[in-house]
Amino acid sequence: MTGERATTDGMVVAVDGRKCQGHNRCMALCPEVFEADEFGYSVVRMNPVGHELEEKVRLAEANCPERAITVT
Ligand code: SF4
Repeated sequence: MTGERATTDGMVVAVDGRKCQGHNRCMALCPEVFEADEFGYSVVRMNPVGHELEEKVRLAEANCPERAITVT
């Protein structure tokens, strides 16, 4: 379970469920990290996220029209 690793190993990715409108853009751009919940809203599959996925995560962050994704 990757969630048990120290956060220093990667990025912490979050989706603000109050902002997410379920456009699916993040899931299309980075399905390794984002998936739809039962209502079609985005949820993060893993945390922390390894830096090998940083480019895709940043692309999803930049393409979210609601600015719902944060990466720290
Ligand atoms: S792109 Fe943004 S608004 Fe759309 S599903 Fe992903 S997090 Fe939600």
